[in-house]
Amino acid sequence: MELRISKLSKTYGNGVVALDNISLTIPTGMFGLLGPNGAGKSTLMRTLATLQECDSGAVFFGELDVLDEKDEIRRLLGYLPQDFGVYPKVTAYEMLDHFAVLKGLSQRTRRREVVDGLLQQTNLFEVRHQRLGGFSGGMRQRFGIAQALLGDPRLIIVDEPTAGLDPQERVRFHNLLSDIGEDKTVILSTHIVSDVADLCANMAIINKGHVLLCGKTQQLIDAV
Ligand code: ADP
Ligand code: ADP
Repeated sequence: MELRISKLSKTYGNGVVALDNISLTIPTGMFGLLGPNGAGKSTLMRTLATLQECDSGAVFFGELDVLDEKDEIRRLLGYLPQDFGVYPKVTAYEMLDHFAVLKGLSQRTRRREVVDGLLQQTNLFEVRHQRLGGFSGGMRQRFGIAQALLGDPRLIIVDEPTAGLDPQERVRFHNLLSDIGEDKTVILSTHIVSDVADLCANMAIINKGHVLLCGKTQQLIDAV
């Protein structure tokens, strides 16, 4: 489903203009939001994830008013924040199982199926009974995706997911994201060009709260 962002603005209390009248149309599939540190990516991601208020503007996911119908959008949303933290003493299986209950998956056998499926999809099934505190950065990020995928979301937002990953883990993470499915709307926020070049059919470049370029990744890359 298409996500339409229209004239979104946000100025923080300290006077920093993080989003300056941003308009963007994000089609179904993988969309890359590329920009340097401080560009406004996280502010935009948090706003789309309904975790932060903006000053003005509108966002629609299909017919759904994202800024207004927060409960509805949260049901359709999977979000992996930039500063994703884990409970160190809980195992991967326990944590996902817990979130599955919160998502309303009350039936035990069904829940087990879903949780095992996600652990397999993110290549964490072998380590499912290990505590999250012992996970490497790459394992944590893959766990974050498993958590974000609970409840079969239609809109998935991942904020700087590959920052700090070594090249091997980055490849593994890329493979995971590209498998998530073309029928979902996935927004990948990153400052790493190859994240977008490898994964996203469409992209935008933002800086200082402005959209500099938006379009098909191949065309934008060919033009440079
Ligand atoms: P990015 O994710 O692209 O690095 P951010 O959205 O985090 O960009 O930040 C955009 C701008 O807003 C930066 O100048 C940043 O310092 C500022 N900023 C972000 N969060 C806050 C906040 N809570 N209070 C004040 N300024 C903020
Ligand atoms: P590195 O720390 O060198 O980046 P990782 O910790 O990311 O390597 O591990 C690479 C792979 O090995 C991961 O996909 C993970 O599933 C597996 N792995 C890592 N640590 C363990 C562990 N303690 N037990 C079982 N498998 C592990």
